[in-house]
Amino acid sequence: MPVQAACERRKNFDEVALGLSSEDAKKEAARCLMCKNPKCVEGCPVNIDIPGFIKFIVNGDPKGALAKIKETNMLPAVCGRVCPQENQCEKFCIRGNIDSPVEIGYLERFAADFGASNESFEIQSNGKKVAIVGSGPSGLTCAAELRKLGYGVTVFEALHELGGVLTYGIPEFRLPKKIVKSEIASLSEIGVEFQVNHVIGQTIDIDELLENEGFNAVYISTGAGYPHFMGVEGEDLNYVYSANEFLTRINLMKAHYFPETDTPVHVGNSVAVIGGGNTAMDAARCALRLGPEKVFLIYRRSRNEMPARKEEVIHAEEEGIRFEFLTSPVKYIGDKEGSVKKIICQRMTLGDPDAGGRQRPVAVPDSNFEIEVDSVIVAIGTGANQLISQTVEDIQVNSKGYIITDEYGRTSKKNVYAGGDIVTGSATVIKAMGAGKIAARVIHCDLCEI
Ligand code: FAD
Ligand code: SF4
Repeated sequence: MPVQAACERRKNFDEVALGLSSEDAKKEAARCLMCKNPKCVEGCPVNIDIPGFIKFIVNGDPKGALAKIKETNMLPAVCGRVCPQENQCEKFCIRGNIDSPVEIGYLERFAADFGASNESFEIQSNGKKVAIVGSGPSGLTCAAELRKLGYGVTVFEALHELGGVLTYGIPEFRLPKKIVKSEIASLSEIGVEFQVNHVIGQTIDIDELLENEGFNAVYISTGAGYPHFMGVEGEDLNYVYSANEFLTRINLMKAHYFPETDTPVHVGNSVAVIGGGNTAMDAARCALRLGPEKVFLIYRRSRNEMPARKEEVIHAEEEGIRFEFLTSPVKYIGDKEGSVKKIICQRMTLGDPDAGGRQRPVAVPDSNFEIEVDSVIVAIGTGANQLISQTVEDIQVNSKGYIITDEYGRTSKKNVYAGGDIVTGSATVIKAMGAGKIAARVIHCDLCEI
C-alpha cells in the first residue's frame, strides 16, 4: 500500500496510507485461491464472505464487492483501515503457506472506497423499538442489524459527535473522520435514528427507556473509556494528560487548529508518551504532528511484547518517535508553576511470564535516569465507566465494573443486552462489531420469540 512520505506526513494530519489503485487491487485479488473451505472467513469475527467479495474485484466490479461485504459488515471503510487483519482473517489465509497471505484488509478498503453506490433497500417495520446506548462500532453494528430486521432503532450518544473511539480516539491520519461520517450516514439512510448529547444514566436512565419511552429492549455499548493512571508521584502536575483526554482534544475538539477552534492543547518541545499499545502509538504520532522537537515513547517491556499493531510501530519509528524500551516512569517533577518538567525513569528487565504468558517487567536496581519533558501522555489502558450499572439496580457487573452477559449478550436484567468493550474490556473494532451482531440476532429471537 503506498503511503505519504514520513518526512511530509509527520507535519500533517492527512491520511498516511493512500489505498490501492484499481490495477494493484485486481493483481492482489488474483492471488486469492478461492478456497472451497476458506479459513480466512473463520478468522473474521463477523464472517465476511471474503473469497466472495474478492471475486468481484478480480472481475473489475468494486460495487459488487462492496455489496457482498455489506451483507455482513456495515462499516467496511473503517474495518479496511483499522482492523488488525494480521491477527484475524489474514493470519488464517492459506496463501500464507505458499508465499504471503492475501492482503484482505487492503482489498476491503479498496471495495469500500471505490464501490459506493446510492442503492437503497426497502425495510418493513415490525412495530418494535430498540434503544442502543453508545454509538461506537458495537452500537452502530447492532443498530444496523436490527434496523434491517425491521426494528425502529434509536442510538443515544453521550458526546456531541457519533462514532465512539472511531471519532474521538483514532486519529484522522489513520481513519479520516469523513469516512466515519459517511458510514454512519448509510445507517441514517436505512432509518436508524441518532440522539447526541444524551448521557444515559444522567439525561434518562435504562428503566425510563423501557418503561416510559416505549423501547422493547436496550443494547448497552458504552465502551471502556475510563482512563487509568499509574499512581506515580507527580501525575497530578499540569500537562500530564490521559491519552483519552489528549486524543479527544485533538480528534473531537480539533485542538491542533487552536485558536481557530476553542480547545487548546499544550505539548511544548519535549513530549513523553507512556505505554505500548495502539493508543500510545496514536498519542505519540498526534503529539509529533503538533511540532515538538522530541517525542519519546516509554514502554516497560521490549519491542516484541508491544501490543500495538506492527504497522503502526513502523510508521511511528519512520516519523521520528524515539522509543525507550524496558523503561518505566517512577516520578514526575514539576516547576514552581506546577507544570511537569522531568521524568525520573527506571530501567527494567524481563522476568518470569505473567498469567497472560508475557514476560513480567522487573526493575533493574540503581538504574534511574531523567528525561526532560514539557508534557506527558499516559496511555497505559482504560477501564469501564460505571455510570449505567450504578443507575440501574439489577445489571450485574464484575469486580472491574464490566457488565456480565451470557455468550449472546444477555445481561442479568430482562430485555437489556450489552456488548463490545463494556463487556470484554478494551479489545478491537471488529470484536465490538461481532458482539453487536450477535446481540442483534438474540434480541430478535427474544422479542419475536423465534
Ligand atoms: P466505543 O468505541 O468506546 O464507543 C462507546 C460510545 O459510548 C462512546 O461514543 C461513548 O461516548 C458512548 N457512551 C459512553 N457512556 C455513555 C452513556 N452513559 N450514554 C450514552 N453514550 C455513552 N481497535 C482496532 O481494531 N484497531 C485499531 O487500530 C484501534 N486503535 C485504537 C486506538 C485508540 C486510541 C483506542 C482508544 C482504541 C483503539 N482500538 C482499535 C480499540 C477499539 O477502538 C475499541 O475496541 C472499540 O471502539 C470498542 O467499541 P465499542 O462500541 O464497544 O465502544
Ligand atoms: Fe483467498 Fe486466503 Fe481466503 Fe483462501 S484463505 S479464500 S486464499 S483469502
